[in-house]
Amino acid sequence: MTNVAIHPSVDVGVKKGSPDFTGGTLRCQCNDDAVEVRVQSNVAHNHVCGCTKCWKPAGAAFALIGVVPRDKLEVTQHAEKLEIVDKSAPIQRYACKVCGAHMYGRIENRDHPFYGLDFIHVELSPDIGWEEPRFAAFVSSVIESGGARPEQMDDVRARFTELGIPPYDCLNPPLMDAMATHIAKRNGVLK
Ligand SMILES: [Zn+2]
Ligand SMILES: [Zn+2]
Repeated sequence: MTNVAIHPSVDVGVKKGSPDFTGGTLRCQCNDDAVEVRVQSNVAHNHVCGCTKCWKPAGAAFALIGVVPRDKLEVTQHAEKLEIVDKSAPIQRYACKVCGAHMYGRIENRDHPFYGLDFIHVELSPDIGWEEPRFAAFVSSVIESGGARPEQMDDVRARFTELGIPPYDCLNPPLMDAMATHIAKRNGVLK
């Protein structure tokens, strides 16, 4: 076992989700008046992310993030505590003003390849059955976030491989292909 902490949800091994799981509730980290988000769908494309924008729990080098259809997500408690982290970012991340947890990220640009999907962190849900993380994205960016030093990257990638999580330095091939297809169709290259 390589001695690299990735994220609390995978450090002890990846636990498979349930194909029958139909959704659950996310709660922010406040002890009182927690923001609650109800999701009536399992998560898709769940993955570990090394980018500098995704929210991660204290001490974690990587984030855990996946998508759900935006019409399946609803803020059910304490919406007044949410604020958008960066209004100019392509993904508008709604965070709790008190504890800082990101409850969901939403894309408002209809031309964006991932329009219609909201980004969520299933670790904020006590419910069991969410799809397990299936790949790691933007692994090299963890150097930029300060989560790992350049000389640790061989160990970081080895640890992902050991966990059965293929590491990529962008998104995984299916999502990169989906983005390129969207752009090629919009530009008329692909009919
Ligand atoms: Zn909170
Ligand atoms: Zn990310």
